[in-house]
Amino acid sequence: MRSVEEHQRVVAGLITARPAALVPVSAAEGLVLAADVVAPLSLPVFDNSAMDGYALRVADVTQTPVTLPVAEDIPAGRTDRLTLEPGTAHRIMTGAPVPAGADAVVPVEATDAGIPVVEIRSAPKPGQHIRKAGEDVAAGTTVLRAAHHISPAALGLVAALGIDRLAVAPRQRVLVISTGSELVPPGTPLQPGQIYESNAVMLAAAVREAGAEVAGMATCSDDVAQFRALLDDYAGQADVVLTSGGVSAGAYEVVKDAFGSDSGRRPGGAVEFVKVAMQPGMPQGAGRLPDGRSIVTLPGNPVSALVSFEVFLRPALRAAMGLPPHRPRRTAVLAEALTSPGGKRQFRRGVYDSAAGTVTSYGPPASHHLRWLASANCLLDIDADVTALAAGEPVGIWDLNT
Ligand code: AMP
Ligand code: MG
Repeated sequence: MRSVEEHQRVVAGLITARPAALVPVSAAEGLVLAADVVAPLSLPVFDNSAMDGYALRVADVTQTPVTLPVAEDIPAGRTDRLTLEPGTAHRIMTGAPVPAGADAVVPVEATDAGIPVVEIRSAPKPGQHIRKAGEDVAAGTTVLRAAHHISPAALGLVAALGIDRLAVAPRQRVLVISTGSELVPPGTPLQPGQIYESNAVMLAAAVREAGAEVAGMATCSDDVAQFRALLDDYAGQADVVLTSGGVSAGAYEVVKDAFGSDSGRRPGGAVEFVKVAMQPGMPQGAGRLPDGRSIVTLPGNPVSALVSFEVFLRPALRAAMGLPPHRPRRTAVLAEALTSPGGKRQFRRGVYDSAAGTVTSYGPPASHHLRWLASANCLLDIDADVTALAAGEPVGIWDLNT
């Protein structure tokens, strides 16, 4: 049997970074910059008012109150260049350009808000309420470095700088295929012996949550010809093919059969099927298709499929996008005793109480208990050589909330 770490290395080795690409800023969220971002202009772009009020010259307010004629009205967005004549004021709004000659803005609250004359009731300090051009960013400054994780605030900064495309490590494109002749889509009637297909929507969401992109979703019956045709249909549209089901030891194992030696391993491609010493998720497979796409084949039981995604795919996809591969790992105090199979690393669903620092295992270990998975917020990570843990003992967890 292969260890979890070894299969992690195999999957990580198959999933490689795409070349850096320029993408629209709106598509760059959560990705990593492939190049430094240098400011093409200064921020603020021009001297502008920080308040709604009146632009004036400090020298014109030697005593208060003083009354000044209001010569101009400057809303935000006014584009003509204005000059303030001595002895006058301009009404000005937040973000509007400060006229040449003005050296302060008096907030409307410190006036009678008048027009066409205004009474100024408090004496301004030089520069008051004027945001100076370049005080935030000077043109030519490197504002973000390559490898920076693109946050909402980073998107706001680059948009403010007028940048509409960013060089990034692109998202991995993942084709999600569910296999099983028993599967029918939710929303259609069930015949006896059929079940609703649930892995595709779950794994596609996990792909997107990892920062990758879903290149397509498909369900395939346990028919080798149909499965191969599906791979051909999507040729070139994905970097990674992710299948669920059809890899265990029974008959009608469509994924295994499609790549097994007697069913014709296709030239140039090779997929290896192995048993991994873990629970859930023992039957696994990984390899490369003839067209160069990598393929990772997960077991079909929903809990096995999602745990396998967490253990093998998520870290590999994220590493290939330059993102931190791992969930935060913590140590929590086990709230109850539990047992674990010897020789297998076990990933139990759990509920972690971050305030108390405790964790409770949640639901049975069997791999079809989706309900428990849906309400868990962590995975307990129990070493292969551990067979029992007492209440109060420390246990490693993967925090799924972050
Ligand atoms: P398999 O790995 O194909 O042997 O499937 C193992 C178990 O998972 C069986 O009970 C399947 O019916 C179930 N299963 C497989 N794929 C799916 C799926 N996409 N949605 C829901 N259940 C599935
Ligand atoms: Mg099946």
